[in-house]
Amino acid sequence: MSEALRHRPAHAVVIGGSIAGMLAAAALTPHVDSVEIIEAHQLPDGPEPRTGVPQAVHIHLLQTGGAEAINDLLPGSIDLLQAAGAHRIPVTTNMVIYSPEGWYRRWKRATHYLLTASRDLTDHIIRQQVLKDPRVTVRTHTRAITLLGTRHQITGVRVRAADNTDVDLHADLVIDASGRASRTPQWLSQLGITDLASDHIDSGLAYASRFYRAPVPTRGWPVIGVQADPSLPRPGNAGGILPIEDDRWHVSLMGAPGGQPSGEPGAFASFARTLRHPIMADLLQHAEPLSDVRVTHSTANRRYYYERLTPWPEGLVVLGDSAAAFNPLYGHGMSVAAQGAVALRDELTTGLLPGLARRA
Ligand SMILES: Cc1cc2nc3c(=O)[nH]c(=O)nc-3n(C[C@H](O)[C@H](O)[C@H](O)COP(=O)(O)OP(=O)(O)OC[C@H]3O[C@@H](n4cnc5c(N)ncnc54)[C@H](O)[C@@H]3O)c2cc1C
Repeated sequence: MSEALRHRPAHAVVIGGSIAGMLAAAALTPHVDSVEIIEAHQLPDGPEPRTGVPQAVHIHLLQTGGAEAINDLLPGSIDLLQAAGAHRIPVTTNMVIYSPEGWYRRWKRATHYLLTASRDLTDHIIRQQVLKDPRVTVRTHTRAITLLGTRHQITGVRVRAADNTDVDLHADLVIDASGRASRTPQWLSQLGITDLASDHIDSGLAYASRFYRAPVPTRGWPVIGVQADPSLPRPGNAGGILPIEDDRWHVSLMGAPGGQPSGEPGAFASFARTLRHPIMADLLQHAEPLSDVRVTHSTANRRYYYERLTPWPEGLVVLGDSAAAFNPLYGHGMSVAAQGAVALRDELTTGLLPGLARRA
């Protein structure tokens, strides 16, 4: 840290107020004086849907590593989630999954677990803990439009408010947590940092999802799933039912090109019937739909290799889907974001020193 920096408050700006952005703020607060989160959309007060996270209508499970990373950054989160109705599913004890090799064996003793809840609830529990820290503020309805600084040092972000006014926000550290829509590659290019390597692998998988009222209380209910079998001579299709809060089932059906599910409510149950096993279709017959069917095709794997760029400017870190977004079938994007935030916090323990951004 420079002498000048040592004697004035350190300030960080986080672009994006979703899971990676909130957890980045949690990672930063012990090490900086203030954090401002810039969010393009509204942030609700409760566990409600919001425009910035359209993928929340699809099933979101939290893996052990992600749940524990969140708990590490925000102690008590797992308990809060469970108290609000999230289910702790021991792996594989409480999983009824039909794989290409047959039914998963349901081991009695579990070393790992999944947390199942609506994405709205998971985000709410995280958000309410982060935002009760007076060092964290949020500017909603505001969009980051470019980075400030040079190719060697980022000094802030230019943001555009809903009324189209632009403001320059200065910061000692900027975190890009704006998700799949991240503009960091273009912003770096404006600063003369080009040749960013990336991988983009799109399987063309589509998701269709719906919420149901479960026919029985969901306490102790397993995760149910039917996986695709790549050896079959037809487009792969799959599906899952997660028990979530308020005795609901969150159901997603997935299909590869040539066999993608549609958003037509009447077609949902019949698509479930095309899976390799009828368990999901049979169960859905007894459940009451609570929502429309929503479809997404935004499932490509995309990774930016920022670590290979030289120079990498001081003062800029990229986190979550902004850095690497995964095919959701793997169910680990939130966990990767959480573990990334833990890694950022660990790098910060020695202070805002030169080289921090590259190491992080
Ligand atoms: C169909 C589907 C199912 C999934 N299932 C799972 C699952 O089971 N388990 C799991 O762990 N993960 C799952 N994921 C992945 C998970 O949704 C993402 O990994 C996770 O949301 C990444 O968090 P993030 O904060 O990086 O980005 P996002 O959650 O996408 O949030 C980005 C935020 O940035 C804001 N923003 C964007 N641009 C700007 C800007 N210029 N200025 C200000 N704000 C901006 C947006 O409004 C938004 O709030 C799934 C994804 C999909 C698509």
